[in-house]
Amino acid sequence: MRGARSIKDLSREELARWLAERGEPRYRLDQLEGWLYRQDVAGFHEMTNLPKVFREALEEAFLLFSLEEVAREEAPDGTIKFLFAARDGERVESVLIPDRDRLTLCVSTQVGCRMGCRFCLTGRQGFRRNLTRGEILDQVLLVRREARSREREITNVVFMGMGEPLDNYRESLAALRILVSDRGMGFSHRKVTLSTVGLIPQMRRLVQEGLDLTLALSLNAADNETRSFLMPINRKYPLEEVMAALRAYPLPPRKRFTLEYVVLKGVNHSPRDARHLVRLVEGLRVKVNLIPFNPFPGAEFERPSEREVLDFQAWLRARGISTFIRQSRGQEISAACGLLRWREGA
Ligand code: SF4
Repeated sequence: MRGARSIKDLSREELARWLAERGEPRYRLDQLEGWLYRQDVAGFHEMTNLPKVFREALEEAFLLFSLEEVAREEAPDGTIKFLFAARDGERVESVLIPDRDRLTLCVSTQVGCRMGCRFCLTGRQGFRRNLTRGEILDQVLLVRREARSREREITNVVFMGMGEPLDNYRESLAALRILVSDRGMGFSHRKVTLSTVGLIPQMRRLVQEGLDLTLALSLNAADNETRSFLMPINRKYPLEEVMAALRAYPLPPRKRFTLEYVVLKGVNHSPRDARHLVRLVEGLRVKVNLIPFNPFPGAEFERPSEREVLDFQAWLRARGISTFIRQSRGQEISAACGLLRWREGA
């Protein structure tokens, strides 16, 4: 019987133990990790510098991939949305976003999400399950293979797809370690971003990990009343506490925190909102990304006009806050922020 467990779901220690039990030499682990994370192979049989009997043993014991691509949509702006099927039939989505010399992959960490943000289609779907580290990594590996076939390299990885990465702490962190490790995929820490709604205990824990990741906070409102309305988690972890946790996160010199801010018509872009935001981030190095809301069927919010977004940006900039308007890439394929859920029947 073929292995039913993804080899990438094993920790390094577990894999080392498995190899030792088989009497494999110590260097085998490095060889294997090289194939798993730095080469693009479709099967264990392609790992040509490993002995044949060992490749067969791997084949018997493990799966190389736990996800399989089942659909993809490409938008006119070059954004590609991938739909993967997990072994249990759950669907996982990733979005590849080209932007000049950058190629950013947005990965999911959960199927569905527990956070229930009102402006988010994924939030409405509810929570189904956590992804494993192997499933998170497979999104990067499978899309990287596709990108390389087009002679491109993924330059940035953002944990901003379906789910709250810190709500799946153990698996997200295990995947992140592989992403930034030289033994793994070798991404620079600066090119890997984790976005959170502000789960304070996990943010504090993240400080201890010494990973130096770029942290983004999904802010969306600068006063507790509005934020609790938009994001139920704010009732548990109010803004002042979230900001205190952010201030405690070690920020490398010349780096800034990213604050993501979905602009909802008539809800969070008044001069008063700008004043609150300015006060909230006082003394903190931040940049604000404004994301005009993308309405979806049944959404209770509307998209703000371009003028409204520009005004909000101007108010913040006038108060010294770097503020950018993020183009919603791939809107045609529902791949824009907060819309990361495959269209029904697509
Ligand atoms: S915005 Fe992010 S955290 Fe909020 S419900 Fe959607 S996926 Fe979850």
